[in-house]
Amino acid sequence: DDPLLTVENLHTSFHTDDGTVNAVDGVDFTVRRGETVCLVGESGSGKTVACESITQLFKRPPGEITAGSIVFDGIELTNCSERELTDIRGARISHVFQNPQNALNPVYTIGWQLLEAIELHQDVSRAAARAEAVELLDRVGISEASDRLEAYPHELSGGMKQRVMIAMALACQPDLLIADEPTTALDVTIQAQILRLLKDLQAEYGIGILFVTHDLGVVAEIADRVVVLYAGKVMERGTVYDVFETPCHPYTRALLDCLPGRGSLGGIPGSLPDPMAPPAGCRFHDRCPDAVPDCSTGDQPAFESVVGEDHEVSCLHYRTAAEPTVLESGVEPR
Ligand code: SF4
Repeated sequence: DDPLLTVENLHTSFHTDDGTVNAVDGVDFTVRRGETVCLVGESGSGKTVACESITQLFKRPPGEITAGSIVFDGIELTNCSERELTDIRGARISHVFQNPQNALNPVYTIGWQLLEAIELHQDVSRAAARAEAVELLDRVGISEASDRLEAYPHELSGGMKQRVMIAMALACQPDLLIADEPTTALDVTIQAQILRLLKDLQAEYGIGILFVTHDLGVVAEIADRVVVLYAGKVMERGTVYDVFETPCHPYTRALLDCLPGRGSLGGIPGSLPDPMAPPAGCRFHDRCPDAVPDCSTGDQPAFESVVGEDHEVSCLHYRTAAEPTVLESGVEPR
C-alpha cells in the first residue's frame, strides 16, 4: 500500500538578518491512508515547520525548502507553483491549528464561513451546501446545528470553535488532515472529546492524519506511528506501541518521563541548542544522561533498526532493555 505522503530528507530554513535557522534539517516520515502519524517534540524541535513545509504555509521568504522531497499521492509538492499548492491546500490537504479563534473570521457567522468552504470545493447549490453544513456541524458534535449556523465565533466556546474548524477542514473532503496542537488550548475533557472525534472521523472517511503535539499523553491516545523530533532532526520513529513499550532514544525516554505520574516534574533539564549553530555530533548530547565523548563528534548518528518492524533510532548508545513504560502508568496506546 503506497503511502499517501512521503517526506524525504526535508530541509527547511529561515533566512534572518542574524543568520540562517535550519529549522528542519533532514527529516523523513510517511503517512499512509487511514493512519495517524504524530510528530512529537519540545517547542523548537521543528515539528510545526515540518508540517507547514508540506503545503508551504510559511512566508517565503524568509522560509525556504532548501532540499528534500515531499510526495503527496504521487505529486511532488516541492515542484508545485503557488497556485497548485493553493488548490491542493484547499481541496486535498486540510489544516487544523491550535487557536481556532485566529482561523475563524470574527465578523462572519459560522454558517457563512462553512458555506463558503463547501462552495469553494464542491459544485453544489446553496441549499445543498447549507444542508451539508448542518450535517457537518452535527457530525462534529455540535447540537442544534441549524441554529448554530447563525452564531458568530465569539458566541462559541473554545471547544466548539475547534469543532467548527474540524468541520471546515472536512468540508473539502481531504485525503490528509494536518492538525497542529489542535487540543493544546482546550481543557482535558474537551481535549479527549476532540481526539475521539478525530479518530471517529478518520475511521469513517479513511483520511490520513498528521498530528503535531508536544504531549506524549495525546500521542498515546491518537497515534498509530510516532516520529520524535529534536532540534530539526528525527531521533526515533516507530509504531506507537514500539516507541512507548521500548523507547530506545534517551530523548524519547526523557519525554516519557515528563508524563504525569512519572518522575520528572520539571521537564527535561537544559534547553534546545541554538538553531543557528547546532552542535556537532548528536544534537541531544549536552542534555543526554547517557552521552559519551564520541557523541559530540561527527554527524548525527545514522538510523539503526531496533526491536519491531520500522522501529528506528538515531543514537550511538541506544538501549533496548525493558524500561518502565507509560502502559504501567495507565496511559494506553490505542
Ligand atoms: Fe545520547 Fe549519545 Fe545517544 Fe546522542 S548519541 S542520544 S548523546 S547516547
